[in-house]
Amino acid sequence: MRAHAALTSVLVLVLALAGCAQPDGTISHAGGPQPAESTAPPTPSPRPTRTVPPKPPLRPLPAKLPADLRRSTGVRTVALTFDDGPNPAWTPKVLSQLRAARVTATFCVVGREVQRHPDLVRRIVREGHQLCNHSWRHDMDLARRPVAEIRADLTRTNRAIEAAAPGARVSYYRQPGGRWTPEVVAVAKDLGMRPLHWNVDPQDWGKPTAATITRRVHAAARPGAIVLLHDGGGDRAATLAACPHLIADLKRRFGIARLR
Ligand SMILES: [Zn+2]
Repeated sequence: MRAHAALTSVLVLVLALAGCAQPDGTISHAGGPQPAESTAPPTPSPRPTRTVPPKPPLRPLPAKLPADLRRSTGVRTVALTFDDGPNPAWTPKVLSQLRAARVTATFCVVGREVQRHPDLVRRIVREGHQLCNHSWRHDMDLARRPVAEIRADLTRTNRAIEAAAPGARVSYYRQPGGRWTPEVVAVAKDLGMRPLHWNVDPQDWGKPTAATITRRVHAAARPGAIVLLHDGGGDRAATLAACPHLIADLKRRFGIARLR
């Protein structure tokens, strides 16, 4: 329905630009060329062909990340972030590990997974973790699309979170793939979310071993680090196996706390 509505509004916009649409979307010939007077019998007009408005081109990604992304905690403690869930295979196990270690994290959730697993969102909130909007369907190109489309996607995701866990705050937005544009940053801020990036990425999505994930986090972590991990989007067994070690290591060296 939403996509259809968007398509309709694009069509209306195209027609409006052509100067032949009324605000209500009807087409008028007022102001346009009058039909020439003719005594000739009317020729049958060709069947109107359905034209699909062309998709607007994606805007280019900026060469540099926008300056106003959150890339460190701003304090000595480090923050853990888990992306691409909630996932019934992995999120409960991550939550149990966090509880056992008495630390909290930020979960960057994908809207359609929120809709499928609202119970997991409620557990995330109940156990004191923070929520971050990670778009409706993990669209890596979302930031390059028209602003209205970005806004609709982020809003839809926030509504799914609100339906799953009424009253839960969604403090952050994280662009899938870290493929930010100034436009997506502006929309996220306008919707009350801070743009959340990271500065430690062990690339657990690339299926390294648990030992490699632990080693990469250990080597890259500094005071104030924001660590990117995944609890969804694929087989997260290695991430899960790495967590006890990397959590103990980060806790000992810097402390782990929620983002503020
Ligand atoms: Zn992601």
